[in-house]
Order: sequence, then structure tokens, then C-alpha cells
Amino acid sequence: RLDACRGEVEFSQAEFRYTPEGPVVLHQMDLHIPAGQTVAVVGRTGAGKSTLVKLLARFYDVTSGSLTLDGVDLRKLSLEDHHRHVAMVTQEAFLFSGTITENIALGRPDAPQEDVIAAAQAVGAHEFIMDLPEGYDTDVNKRGGRLSAGQRQLISFARAFLADPAVLILDEATSSLDLPSEQLVQQGLQRLLGNRTALIIAHRLSTVAIADRVLVVDEGSVVEDGSPEEL
Ligand code: ATP
Ligand code: MG
Repeated sequence: RLDACRGEVEFSQAEFRYTPEGPVVLHQMDLHIPAGQTVAVVGRTGAGKSTLVKLLARFYDVTSGSLTLDGVDLRKLSLEDHHRHVAMVTQEAFLFSGTITENIALGRPDAPQEDVIAAAQAVGAHEFIMDLPEGYDTDVNKRGGRLSAGQRQLISFARAFLADPAVLILDEATSSLDLPSEQLVQQGLQRLLGNRTALIIAHRLSTVAIADRVLVVDEGSVVEDGSPEEL
């Protein structure tokens, strides 16, 4: 059991293939991510970026070697603990039918309303929510057409902020936003990151720029590892 989690991640000789006969998709990877580091993962299509973060999100287990969180092998961690400490924000902000409050409180349905509002404020979503006709009670499906891609992204950030995981995994949306929305999303992202460990599959240059570290992945290996300035 892992109660307090710092968010230190370590891949040790981690190898992965999707099927026993299939090709090796990640090659004996050694990668240490200290707690609190923001890591941007970049590389061409098919390089293995999504596979890398999906191992951490426990969609799959490593085929050989190990992957640990605070020194604990993920395979020994209960799914409940894993879920509490590691959260993935998906590419297309996933909103379900329900109010904005319900969407933000997805992982914590019993969260008091003031925590929901505090999370929205923290990522910069509160202002536009208050401008909606029914505020936090607005049904996102009925008004869905009125929520922009950037606003949906901010709601998913508020959801992640409220869940407060030690490790955040983000597959950045490729769809382009207009400049004001992109700036809002970028600010929201920075506030969401805080002191958490984060692995971001980054498509925006502005995201690479705020990372502590950039990993270039190619053909299942990390081929470059350095600060944004170095790369
Ligand atoms: P993109 O930028 O296009 O999202 P990526 O870097 O995320 O690419 P991955 O999705 O990790 O790449 O894919 C790495 C390799 O694993 C590719 O050769 C891909 O075809 C293969 N692959 C991905 N998912 C599966 C799967 N479910 N089953 C079998 N092979 C897969
Ligand atoms: Mg991918």
C-alpha cells in the first residue's frame, strides 16, 4: 500500500511488446524521473510515446524489467492506489452528460462544492463557467455546442486538479486552438502541474518550453534527453 506518494518514477531495463510474438516496442529502457519533474515526450509518429505513458498509466504491464513508483513495482501496487496517485488527462477532453460540477467531480463525487470551485479557479476555468447561464449547474451536453475545445480542456484540468494525483500524464491535443484559448489552456496547464511529476506527450512548442526535461523517443528508445534549451 502506498499512502503518501512523492511521484518518483523509474523504468529499469523496461521492455515491452504488445503480443508475445510481436515486435519489441520499447527497448530496455532505463529512465529515472525525480518527483516533481515536468517531462515533455516528443518524437515522430509510431516512436512509442503513447506506449511509454500507457505503461505508467497501467494500461499494460512491462514485458520484462520493471517500472516503479516511489520504488514500488507497479505490478505490486493495488489498482486503487495506482488510480489515486497517477492520473491521465486524455487528448480529447472527455466530458460526459451532466453538469459542470459533476464533470469536475468525476473522480471525487462527494467533493464539497467549494473544492470544485477552488479547482476551477486554480486552473482558470471559474470565470467562463460563471458566464454560463446556469454556472456550475450548466449541463455540458445541452450546452455542449457552446463549450469551446479550450474550455473543455480547462474543465478536464479542473477535474485533474481536484483529484490531486502525484503523477500526471497528459497526451496533449493536436487540434489547434485560437491564440487566446491556447494561452488560457497553457496557463491552466502550468497551474495544474504545480509540484507534481508530469509526463506530457507534447505537441506545442510552448509546452516543451515549460518542461524541465525533454525526452526524444525514436523506435522505442530515448535518443535524446536534456533541457529544452539544450535540445
Ligand atoms: P503517435 O505520435 O502517432 O501517437 P506514438 O509515438 O504514440 O505515435 P505508439 O502508439 O506508442 O507511438 O506506437 C509505438 C509502436 O507500437 C508502433 O509501431 C505501433 O504500431 C505499435 N502499437 C501501438 N499500439 C499497439 C497495439 N495496441 N497493438 C500492437 N501494436 C501497437
Ligand atoms: Mg501516440
